[in-house]
Amino acid sequence: MPRLVVIGNGMAGIRTVEEILARDGEGFEITVVGDEPHGNYDRLALSRVLSGAAEESDILLNGLPWYAEHGITLLSGVRAKRIDRFAHRVRLDGREPLRYDKLVIATGGVPFIPDIAGMRVADRGFHQGVFTLRTLDDTRNMIRYARGHQRAVVIGGGPLGLEAARGLQNHGLDITVVHGATHLMDQQLGARAGLVLKHRIAGLGIGVELGARPVAVLGRRRVMAVRLADGRDLPCDMVVVAAGVRPDSAMARASGLVVQRGVVVDDRMRAAGERDIYAVGACAEHRGQVYGALAALWEQAGVLADHITGAASAAYHGSRIVTRVSAAGVDVVAMGVAEPEWPEDEYVVTSSPRLGVHRSVVVRDGRLIGATLVGDIRGAAALVEAFDQGLPLPEDRADLLFDAPAAPDAVSDVPKAPR
Ligand SMILES: Cc1cc2nc3c(=O)[nH]c(=O)nc-3n(C[C@H](O)[C@H](O)[C@H](O)COP(=O)(O)OP(=O)(O)OC[C@H]3O[C@@H](n4cnc5c(N)ncnc54)[C@H](O)[C@@H]3O)c2cc1C
Repeated sequence: MPRLVVIGNGMAGIRTVEEILARDGEGFEITVVGDEPHGNYDRLALSRVLSGAAEESDILLNGLPWYAEHGITLLSGVRAKRIDRFAHRVRLDGREPLRYDKLVIATGGVPFIPDIAGMRVADRGFHQGVFTLRTLDDTRNMIRYARGHQRAVVIGGGPLGLEAARGLQNHGLDITVVHGATHLMDQQLGARAGLVLKHRIAGLGIGVELGARPVAVLGRRRVMAVRLADGRDLPCDMVVVAAGVRPDSAMARASGLVVQRGVVVDDRMRAAGERDIYAVGACAEHRGQVYGALAALWEQAGVLADHITGAASAAYHGSRIVTRVSAAGVDVVAMGVAEPEWPEDEYVVTSSPRLGVHRSVVVRDGRLIGATLVGDIRGAAALVEAFDQGLPLPEDRADLLFDAPAAPDAVSDVPKAPR
């Protein structure tokens, strides 16, 4: 039986395995290599574990029995060091190499760590009190450290930073979010929506410093403060770095694969120039684009599974991204452009920092090309449908915002895995 090796026991890697099993359960002898010492869990739900809203056991997607049931060998807590493309082997840390016929790289992303003095201690990694939020172990460590401390600075005012802020606030810490741009979630929101979000977040008692650049983490034995470029010091016991994510493609690059930002793949999710190696998820770069959103990863996993099980015509053409997050408890849905770009674009907006609600749509040539909902996401599902499918719009564009159904739409509509 052909051997399939998957590097990465995360969201995209295991989704791909599930998709393959759903098509051709008997077709491969499957081995999954994952450097985290756990089964497969819902990474998105880590913020709920951090805030105390969920237990670790609640977020487990596939425990160890699932692998055994499907005849999958899981090497957990094992790191893949290098791919020997010519010998079809994966070299592992402290183990015999693994032979593969087909290989899937699903190594995800790693936190981007800005160059800030004092963040790291020579030979010891992060300074005591500095954290990132990517893994279950990160989350456990943050919770443990938060218990004995009072103040945290979160570097980064994107969705992850805001989730970390709210999560730590639930442990009784005073939180300040430091963000370099002039409004929160600037990658997803326009300035007005960002202002509304800031009011909501500030209303929760979370401090927000915008246009602020941390230049140093202070403290000799442990973190004592974060110094900003304007000379102010923000006293704190903890620093959480949530300044973005980069594809984890170092191992692929060292193995000679084509890597730009991520592992470059074609429309079949096959690594550039390779016959038997695929990449999927946050480590993959397709047509110059790296996707972190789960919906995109699911689409990629489906195409990869189709192709690897013999559907030669399967193709991935990229994803239209809709951001749905609960940013520190404030519901946000954003898609397409945030604000009008051309003079002919139609723009309908209602935005009230006082009420903490922003709702806007951008229409071009009769099509919805962008929508932003903050604090009131009623009607989100209909907007997503119009955006995704280019549906005809009401003549009065305001109906898109004000004709929404009364019941709030769910924030997450991530499709369930095939079983
Ligand atoms: C707290 C949090 C909240 C999030 N919320 C959202 C959200 O609301 N919506 C959304 O769309 N996305 C969200 N994301 C992002 C989403 O979780 C990621 O985009 C997604 O997990 C990427 O899936 P992946 O399989 O590519 O990578 P991962 O899930 O990160 O899995 C990669 C796995 O591979 C392992 N690995 C890496 N290198 C090696 C190696 N050499 N050998 C062995 N194993 C290796 C990693 O340790 C990891 O376990 C969130 C992320 C976090 C951390």
